[in-house]
Amino acid sequence: MTNKLKYFIGNWKMFGNIADLKKIYQIHRFCSLKKFKIKNRVVMCVPNSLIYSFANKLKSKSVSIGAQNCHYKEDYGPFTGAVSSSMLKKAGAKYIILGHSENRAEGETNKIILKKIEAALKNNLKVIFCIGETFKDKLNGKTFSILKKQLKSSIKKNFNIKNIIIAYEPVWSIGTGRTPGSLEVEKNLKFIKKEFKKIVNKKNTPPVLYGGSVNSKNVRNFSSNSEIDGFLIGGASQSPKKFIAIMKNYYK
Ligand code: PEP
Repeated sequence: MTNKLKYFIGNWKMFGNIADLKKIYQIHRFCSLKKFKIKNRVVMCVPNSLIYSFANKLKSKSVSIGAQNCHYKEDYGPFTGAVSSSMLKKAGAKYIILGHSENRAEGETNKIILKKIEAALKNNLKVIFCIGETFKDKLNGKTFSILKKQLKSSIKKNFNIKNIIIAYEPVWSIGTGRTPGSLEVEKNLKFIKKEFKKIVNKKNTPPVLYGGSVNSKNVRNFSSNSEIDGFLIGGASQSPKKFIAIMKNYYK
């Protein structure tokens, strides 16, 4: 296992209410342990309705609050029901998930995702950019070409890579209990890092996380995989017990 900084990012999806701040405090207590804090970043991406309240009440240097999506317009506009990255930033979000497959499934295109990333970066949010192949793509041997297309369409050479995190999330793995093997993840993460470097023409890559049905048992399969810079955790992040168990077991 390397000493590189690791990310544990939760995605609460459309779950949670104000009283669930206590869940974040439970995670905060574990993450504030000095030996954990120095080599890990923990973020909880919660519904928009909770961001302001959580970010204001939570006095934590160990857990940050993030959002899960935004409109592509960077500030204000006549878009009923939408929320912009500038509003989320002002509400207290530090991170934002963009390009999640659940949003892509509802019609979000690579082009729209590019505009959202541009808007979020302008507003100084750290972007967690999700990419991944469907099971059909995988069976047809198209994983690399899909990942390449998603990267090329939504990452621009001039982006501030310090504010980007990539989450490799095979669509077939999200919420299904199925995960790729560690070698498969390693191969795809190496590919993502190589392609990213080509696009931005830089030596460094952003952190690349794995996401998809991560739990306290299967996280052990990934512990010795040095390509993985952390995890995006959906279902299990809604339970502090499960989320903490993932972090503990990763380092066991
Ligand atoms: C996600 O929604 O990003 C995710 C990884 O979900 P799950 O962990 O539930 O598969």
